[in-house]
Amino acid sequence: MGIRDKVEELCERLYDEPQYPTQGAVLFVDLERRTTRRKYLPLDVLRTFLGGRGANMYLLYNLLQEECDALDPEVPLIFGAGTLTGDMPAATRGNFTSRSPDSHAILDTNGGDYFPSFVKRHGYDHLVLFGLAPHWTLLRLAHEDVQFLDATRYVGLDNLDLPAAIERDFDCSERKDMALARITTAGENLALCSGIMGGIKAIWARGGGGAKMGSLRLKAIMVHGKPGDAPKVQELKAHNKVIGKKITSTSVIRNALKQVGTPFLYKPSRVLGALGTMNNQTTAWHATLDADNFDPYRPGMDGCFKCPVHCRNQNDMTPEGKGGWGSAALKGLKGNASYDKAQADVEHGKERSYNGIRGDGTFDQYDKGDGPEYVTVGKFGPMIGLKEPEQILRLNNILNDLGLDSASTGSAISWAMELWQRGIIDARDTGGLDLSWGNYETVEKLLFMTAKREGFGDTIADSARAVERGKYPLEALDYRIAVKGLFQSDPHDSRILKAFALGLSVATRGMDHLRNRVTLEINARINDDAAFKTELYGGTVAPEPNRYDGKEIAVRRCENTFAVGDSVGMCRFNTKLFNSPTTPDPSDFATQLSAATDLDFSGEQLNEIGRNITGLERLLNFRLGLRAKDDTLPRRWFDEEIQVGPFKGEKVDRAAFEAMKGRFYDVTGLNAEGVPRADWHEQLARTTTGFAVRVELPQPLPGAPDKTVIIDERVADVSALRDALQRRFPEAQDALADPSWNVAVNGRMVLSGERDTALNDGDRVALVPIIAGG
Ligand code: SF4
Repeated sequence: MGIRDKVEELCERLYDEPQYPTQGAVLFVDLERRTTRRKYLPLDVLRTFLGGRGANMYLLYNLLQEECDALDPEVPLIFGAGTLTGDMPAATRGNFTSRSPDSHAILDTNGGDYFPSFVKRHGYDHLVLFGLAPHWTLLRLAHEDVQFLDATRYVGLDNLDLPAAIERDFDCSERKDMALARITTAGENLALCSGIMGGIKAIWARGGGGAKMGSLRLKAIMVHGKPGDAPKVQELKAHNKVIGKKITSTSVIRNALKQVGTPFLYKPSRVLGALGTMNNQTTAWHATLDADNFDPYRPGMDGCFKCPVHCRNQNDMTPEGKGGWGSAALKGLKGNASYDKAQADVEHGKERSYNGIRGDGTFDQYDKGDGPEYVTVGKFGPMIGLKEPEQILRLNNILNDLGLDSASTGSAISWAMELWQRGIIDARDTGGLDLSWGNYETVEKLLFMTAKREGFGDTIADSARAVERGKYPLEALDYRIAVKGLFQSDPHDSRILKAFALGLSVATRGMDHLRNRVTLEINARINDDAAFKTELYGGTVAPEPNRYDGKEIAVRRCENTFAVGDSVGMCRFNTKLFNSPTTPDPSDFATQLSAATDLDFSGEQLNEIGRNITGLERLLNFRLGLRAKDDTLPRRWFDEEIQVGPFKGEKVDRAAFEAMKGRFYDVTGLNAEGVPRADWHEQLARTTTGFAVRVELPQPLPGAPDKTVIIDERVADVSALRDALQRRFPEAQDALADPSWNVAVNGRMVLSGERDTALNDGDRVALVPIIAGG
């Protein structure tokens, strides 16, 4: 069944009118045939998965053809704004979801700026994009009006030039009466480390969304015209004040995020001896990249749609540029530098010294911009051997223009540098480029080559798939810092903090800290307060960050909370548990959801919904071939010890890790292959596909350790069920094809006419080995 049939089938279960007061439409967009269709999701989807990321998973589950490559236009790219996006302080976010061309998992990437709120206020909750556009296309949405415009003249434009061209051509202004999700040349060229840009720095980064959008020949989605007003719901307004206050009175937001942005995190990681350095060969790097060294170049902060935080540190190194914003912010704040008291008081007092990147007084457009985030500082600092803030700022600005995910691109370069160091690749592979650690000139050049897929840039553009695509020998995988084929996002080497390590291994989109990181594990005051910590996570979690016991409880709670945050549209920085125990939590979201939808929600219900979302993601990943063995960590973290700092000698013990992972599966409700157990799967299927047949197997099978499995795609008869079983459990094909296994439906043996034996939702099937007589 192709994508159009799947859309047709799904639409039969959707509605023509909104099901609650603030609901927006799902717009199905066939880019090839240039047609659209507008529908509304059922209330059950909201009750089970909320909107945004959660409902995106519902849509993907129904529309995915797992036999299609990620870049096949038959595989849709789905955008979803959160249920409360634009209607709650700091709820500015939305997700792009698909199958990832970069990793082996789902693509699910979250971003903010103005696009998600504009989409929502123009009347849409989701956009489902599929089909290959006949030529490069600009999709223009203006409330009810949808146009497919020729984007040929924008091809080849990157992130600095494209919005300017659109503003000129349509006489509009980004963020005022236009918002734009767009790809750069990197996306056009299907670079797997390219993202979808939503602003000068805002990016839907992880998993290769830029390449996925490029595979549809879609250059940009423009939401044109001023956004509509916020819904006039009195209760929403009242609790928004409470939420706003919670956010702005949180210490880490007031003193760090609002002042210098996320780079404040560099110092605690450095002092702990946990900074991924030179592809995680070591974990120590220079104090030159502590956030205060960026002070002289920071003219101010920027932010997303109506966000009270404004966490995005701008930079300006040009002679006219002013700096100094936030320079007093971190003074006297010890943060988590307490592992080394002497370091806590160090202030660098850095002066402006930049005179052009080559010191010759020449400046260009990359000497000014937006960012960097801590991730970019880590990936383009210690990971590749650079230590000057000016170099990081410039590379950050280039990455923003080229639309490259700094986490995957930086990791791909550091991986290549280690392969070079070990002689696994040499100048013949790199076209003469010298990949020595800290070679700034090579790195700057390589970014442009990556976007164009030129020379060795073609290898970096293949990101974590370079071995699979024949660019590196198999032994290179030994040095790849990735899980499920996705490079690590967080610069933090997690051999010390076992909760971080567990989170990175089980995260549904691959090695990414934004899905479940238990950041407060580095907070000594919380670790030492056992009662508070137990209440925070809903169970006993060991106080020491390097212990294994109870960490599964903390990761579970974070994963639930963050999945809910994404699905209502809340920014992670303002979601409880990510940086603080006092930021808005699921109970706050529940209050606002109840006001916005006229349905009842509670914090505890939302916790369960968070589990549902990740459960469905795990079922999607299972369809993509991922199993429990893929919930793991890079080899280096098991085999090599941390060599510096207060936790010298620390690594991840394989047996203790596997036991912790097993406990995580138990508290989540997963079977030994890491997917929801049958009862839970059946519940999820009822909402997702509206169909569930329970199948009892005669024995545990590969991929089906529990003897009971659920077939959740509509199968008309027993014969079709047999096909579906073999497709879902390819590793058990031989056993499932065994002709001596008969089928019983609802207790009645089917001895002939399997094709004529219809199956319905709720049927119970048993595979029964024939007992040989004689
Ligand atoms: S905290 Fe920063 S990233 Fe989050 S919504 Fe506000 S401005 Fe955007």
